[in-house]
Amino acid sequence: MFDHIKVISLDLDDTLWDIGSVITHAEQCLYDWLADNFPRITEAHTLASMREARVAIGARFPEIGHDLGEIRRRTLRWHAEQADYPHTDVEQGFDIFYTARNQVELYEDVVPALRTLADRYPLIALTNGNADLRHIGLDQFFTSTISSATVRASKPHPAMFDAASAHAGCSNAQVLHVGDDPVTDVQGARDAGAVSVWINRGGAAWPDAHARADYEIGDLHQLIELLGLEPAAVPVR
Ligand SMILES: [Mg+2]
Repeated sequence: MFDHIKVISLDLDDTLWDIGSVITHAEQCLYDWLADNFPRITEAHTLASMREARVAIGARFPEIGHDLGEIRRRTLRWHAEQADYPHTDVEQGFDIFYTARNQVELYEDVVPALRTLADRYPLIALTNGNADLRHIGLDQFFTSTISSATVRASKPHPAMFDAASAHAGCSNAQVLHVGDDPVTDVQGARDAGAVSVWINRGGAAWPDAHARADYEIGDLHQLIELLGLEPAAVPVR
């Protein structure tokens, strides 16, 4: 059933770890750092109004809309200008945010499943976000990360899936994509002609407005079963 699959692409945020709480914490770390170092910014802004500023800046500069990191850096520059601080100093706050943004807690199935999958298939991370797999310690399992910032298009745009198949030297029909989002992951994979797998960790109902995924799994162990793979032996340390 899956003999034709040459590569597996995986979404990252909310597929391999929960991202909402991580972003909330990372934004708080940045806010606290700004309060300590550039207090005129936090005197003028709450965390919520800083988020609103970031959304507005993202909307104002659609050419960087696929690069969330660049939107955050540009927002910091805007805050610096508004509060009359040197923007190169304030922009260093991005590193504070980015370090915290990569402090994720992996779902428990992730490492054993990636080990098994990587034994059999090249794995490509396909993300609209900006996680750093090396920082997170998962880079050993992936042959490549393809991000919306480098493709200059975000899932569900087919260019993202085209980039995955091009990297693997195969057709889109030979790509199996796994992700949590019914639109960006499932619809995107379907529209691009890839095999779509919806990872539904929370047991949500499928949104009826969208065509269903080819397959649905609750975690990555179920993907191993679906593909008929034997779990890889855990290396002895
Ligand atoms: Mg996701």
